[in-house]
Formats: sequence, structure tokens, C-alpha cells
Amino acid sequence: MSKLCVKAGSVKIGGGNAVTIQSMTNTDTADVTATSAQIQALADAGCDLVRLAVRDMRDVEACGTYIARFALPLIADIQYDYRLAVACADAGFAKVRFNPGNTSSAGIKELVTACKANGCPVRVGINGGSLEKDIKAKYNGVTAAALAESALRTVKLLEKENFHDIVISVKASDVRLTVDAYRELDKLCEYPLHIGVTESGCGEDAVIKSAAGIASLLLDGIGDTLRVSLTGDPVREVEVGKSILRAVGLDRNYAEIVSCPTCARCFYDLETLVGKCKKIVANVRRPLKIAVMGCVVNGPGEAATADIGIAGGKDKAVLFAKGRILATLPVKEAEEKFIDMVKELARG
Ligand code: SF4
Repeated sequence: MSKLCVKAGSVKIGGGNAVTIQSMTNTDTADVTATSAQIQALADAGCDLVRLAVRDMRDVEACGTYIARFALPLIADIQYDYRLAVACADAGFAKVRFNPGNTSSAGIKELVTACKANGCPVRVGINGGSLEKDIKAKYNGVTAAALAESALRTVKLLEKENFHDIVISVKASDVRLTVDAYRELDKLCEYPLHIGVTESGCGEDAVIKSAAGIASLLLDGIGDTLRVSLTGDPVREVEVGKSILRAVGLDRNYAEIVSCPTCARCFYDLETLVGKCKKIVANVRRPLKIAVMGCVVNGPGEAATADIGIAGGKDKAVLFAKGRILATLPVKEAEEKFIDMVKELARG
């Protein structure tokens, strides 16, 4: 994790703080009804920061409503026009994403003044598709070093104005390139890093692509805030982001369900039972471990650390807690008792 910390409203990014999840609305920013509903849905899903594309002053005006209405920090995503970035900082956005690469030095000065006055950090976001020509030529294409150099060159424009409230991203749609670029950048600077694999697509392949890139970085200790970029409903981005944080052990406040893949030794409907358990514990926000295993041969042993567990058998199933056997019952009876145990555990 980066050493420096910036504050986007109430959310701290970097400096060893918890990795946050962000997403972006895909409704018309000026459509207050649709965009408010989407921001609310993202907040309900557990999103820490919501970004909105701000295209013109009409959007800035609509955003005033969202800033007043929602407690979670909102980020403005601006392309090209620094005046919009200035307007967004003044409007009370918690952060702006803007690349000042093509902005005049007077424009950068104006932006920095507005961001300083409003305590508004800037994310410099470099994408593989928009690399400067000279850097591309120097590195003979889009490489990890090229992406890192482009990001740091852009950051320098802000540093020149004594502005350091910065978050950086260097995304590509190629997982290896993305991971290498962040590793490079992590060696070269101490700014908080916004991580993600850009334009990863839709469906399961996109989820896996994002998870592969983001998890690799998080396991290396790289990344302070993340966005899973998926085509479709942004709420899914938040769900996947949470699953990634859980998978790499950065979020333990949930009920983990350990279940075996089953094999010929499994004689009961384990998958249905897992589905039922998942529903019961969906809203648990404290560390719990529940084991649903196919057979007694490996079951209780493999799930020894589970708070509660069940291991199936041909006629009978075993219920256990923390590796200790509680009862051996006919399968149906054991399943029912287990569901009751899960409900009780979820209630706390
Ligand atoms: S726990 Fe039993 S049923 Fe499940 S995969 Fe292992 S051996 Fe097979």
C-alpha cells in the first residue's frame, strides 16, 4: 500500500487505510432521477466512492443535487476541459479524475488553486490507449515502463504547482501489462494507487480478468482503491470488488462458506444446501466460517477451523463445530438441524 494518503471526502485512500471500492454510474449524469437511483443502488451494495462522467456545466449543476443528497463521496470524471474540473472542485466533488497533460500552465494553476481551496484530490489516470506519442516511440509501443513514465510526467505538472493531493492509475485491458505497469509505478512513487483492469468486457470472462489483475496487485501489497470495470450494471462491479477483497483476505467481515467440489463420495445434495446457507448469511458483516462438505472422510478434518459444519454420508451426516463432532444424524434431519444452526449463527 502506498505511504501517502489522500482524503476524498470522508474516505481515506492510501497510507495503509483499508482498500476502498469504487464504481461509476452509466446513466445520463444530467438525469437526476435515473442517476440518483443508481448512486443509491451503488451505496446500498457497499460502494465506497461513486464516480460520474461530467461532460458539461449542465452535468455539474445536476451533480450539485447528488452532492447534497448523498453521504458517500462523489468523484467527477472529466476529459480535456480543465474549466469543468475547476467547476467540479468548486461544486464540492470529493475528488476529480482529470489528466492535465494538454492543459496550459495557467489552466493547471487555476485547477490546483480550486482543488487546494476545496480539499479536492486529483486522480491522474493513464490508459494504454491514450499514451503520448513520444513515450510510445521511446518504448516502442505501450509497455509497463511507458505507462508509468506517462503517469509520472503528468503528475509532475501538478507537483510543479506544489500540489501533491494525487492518486494515480495506469490501466490497460491486458492483465499482464496492467499488473507490470502498477508494479513499476509502485517502485517509483509513493502516491496512492487506484487499481483496475480497464475495459475488461462483460460476463464471467471479464470478472476473471479483473480479478486476476486486481488480486495479483493486492497480494503484492499494491493498490489503495479499486474499480472493477464491467460492461453492464455497475452494482455488479461492487459485488465483484467485494469478492476480490475477501478472496485476498483484505475483508474478513463476512460469512465465508467453505464447500468441497464433491466427488463420487458425496451422497447428498450439497449444492442446494450451500445455496440455502449463502442466502441466510448474505448480510452478515462479521467473520464467520461455515463448512459444507461432501463426506466424513475429509469433511470435519478439512474444515477444522469452521465455526460450524456438516459432512454428508450415505445415510447419515455429521454436524461439527470448530472441528469437534456435535452429532451424527440421518441426512435429512442433519440438513434441517444444520440450517437452524446457520440461522442462529447469522443472528449472532
Ligand atoms: S470432501 Fe469428500 S465428497 Fe467432498 S471432494 Fe473431498 S472426498 Fe469428495
